[in-house]
This record gives sequence, structure tokens and C-alpha cells, in this order.
Amino acid sequence: MSEKAENAEKNLILQVQHISKRFTSKGVCVRAVTDVSFDVRKGETIGIVGESGCGKTTLGRCIVRAISASEGEVKYTARDGVTYDFLKLDKKEMKKVRKEIQMVFQDPYSSLDPRMTVIDIIAEPLKANFPKMPKAEIEQKVIEIAKKVGLNTTYLKRYPHAFSGGQRQRIGTARALILNPQVIVCDEAVSALDVSIQAQIINLLKDLQKELQLTYIFISHDLSVVEHISDKVGVMYLGRLVEFGETEKLFSRPCHPYTEALLSAVPIADPDIQNERIPLQGEIPNPANPPSGCYFHERCRYCQEKCKHDVPDLREVDGRMVACHFADEMRLRGFDYEEK
Ligand code: SF4
Repeated sequence: MSEKAENAEKNLILQVQHISKRFTSKGVCVRAVTDVSFDVRKGETIGIVGESGCGKTTLGRCIVRAISASEGEVKYTARDGVTYDFLKLDKKEMKKVRKEIQMVFQDPYSSLDPRMTVIDIIAEPLKANFPKMPKAEIEQKVIEIAKKVGLNTTYLKRYPHAFSGGQRQRIGTARALILNPQVIVCDEAVSALDVSIQAQIINLLKDLQKELQLTYIFISHDLSVVEHISDKVGVMYLGRLVEFGETEKLFSRPCHPYTEALLSAVPIADPDIQNERIPLQGEIPNPANPPSGCYFHERCRYCQEKCKHDVPDLREVDGRMVACHFADEMRLRGFDYEEK
């Protein structure tokens, strides 16, 4: 079977393969992301979680080519059915394909240019990609997309400071949607918002996904949000993927001790359920000088001698991928969906 036929059969839209990103600062090499691979199917939401500094934002930026990866490939199956090596596209191919993969940025307060009106902010990608598009058509498209994300179109000639955090996130979402993408990478897209506004934006993203058949990579440090929106979740620690699998499986029975510890810190809105927190010792190690063996071993309560020397491979355990030597021997604690 040809690669194209195989991808179509599996409905694959993105294949993230062995992505690594290194930064060099003052002669010191920092490994921000190391050998991360996963597949994304059309219409899926993949959540990427981990503590701040774990490399999740860098990974997202490498995937959309906001920064260049040091190694690895991102294979992208475009609307025309062709699978492109997205990170190696030349200028001409990139112009054609770029609009299909967009990003919604972290901070709705700083990601919008304060000197531009909202209508211009949303229209900017359209003008850059279709310089000959008539002004009236651009305005029409902006109004359509603004309505879709729930913005009041009367106020589009105002500046971003006149809008609340939730409205600004809707503006950022409209800007990402204006080019009719297939894939959106949302980087901490709701983290700066109040909980009730978070829920509105999450519901908006879910509705848009259904209506426009969007595929999301949803990067967040907040596991409750990720659980709510994601079909599959990848947990990152110190630049590596340590667990990747279906959300319900991973949340109900984590197989990596780091996932277990992260889940134990999630508040459960039921006074009858005690979610006893598993404390993580110390801080995330310095990525410029990572520990030997399993990167998590200095903070892991199940650490054994082998963990200090041997790097665990990412391998299949209980229907998901896990990087832990003892994943199949341990019974770790997750959310009990029956009780929740
Ligand atoms: Fe913990 Fe060892 Fe598993 Fe690493 S390999 S997560 S240190 S048990």
C-alpha cells in the first residue's frame, strides 16, 4: 500500500517524528525537546501537558515552524491529499500549505498588537496571503468569522484594550481561523483566563472543532482542562514524552509515576473524594545538565538502581506508550471515573 493510501486509511493528518530542539546559550547546549514522536488523526485533540519548562511550548512551536527543530520531521497531510514534510517545505510550497496549520497563542493580553484595530488584527493573515483580495470581501470574511467565535461585530473597529481577556482570546481564535486551517496548535490558550471564561472558550473550541472539522494540539499545564478537551494526552518531562495515550485510560490508570503525581494534584469537585497529593521532590532538573538514566529518577518515589543509569525507552504498556522501566509492574493511582 502506498504511503498516501496508508495515511488516508488511518486518517492521519500529522505525524510528529523524532522532534528534538536544542538551544545553545553562552556555549552551553540546552536540550529543550528530545526525540518526541506521536501521530494525530483528523478531528482529534491531542493534549500536551507537563510542568512549566518541560518543553511543551517549544514542541508546539517546532510543529508549526515558528522556530526550527534541530532534528525530526512533521509529516502533514494537506487538504489536497498530499503528505508534505512540513519542516522542509520550500517558500513556494510553504505559502500554499502554511495557512492550513495555525497557532493560538498563550497570552490574550500580549499576543494582539495594541496599535491595530480588531478588524485589522483578524484580517492581517488574509491580507498577507491574498494581497489581491478586495477590501469588501476581506471585511465580509472577518465579520463571518467574528460571528462564528461569538464576537459582537459592532465593536470590531475598536482596539484590543477595549476587550476582556475572554473576548481577546476569541479575537486570537478568529485570527487563527480566518485562513480556514485544518490544524490549530493552542498554546496555553485558556491559562490566563478566569475559570468561567475558560469553560466558555473550551466549549467554543469544541463547537468550532465539530463545525469545521478542526484538529487541535492543545498545550497546557492544567490537567483538568486537558482532560476536558483531549482525545489523547501526551505527558512531557524535561523535554521527553514520558506517557502518551487515550485520555480516559491515562487519567484512570496512569502508567508513569510522573503522570500519577500530576494527577494527584488535580482538585476534584466532590467533597467525598479525597485526592491525596503525591509530593514531587525538588525542582525540574536543569535541561543543560539533565540527570543520568531516567530523567525523572531524582524525583520518583519508585526509583530503583537501574533507573539511575539506564534511560527507559518509550514502549507500549497497557495500550499506551510509556517511558518507565517498571511501568508494567506497578499499579499507579489515577482518577476513578466510577466515583467521580
Ligand atoms: Fe521512576 Fe524508574 Fe520509572 Fe523513571 S524508570 S519513572 S525513576 S520507576
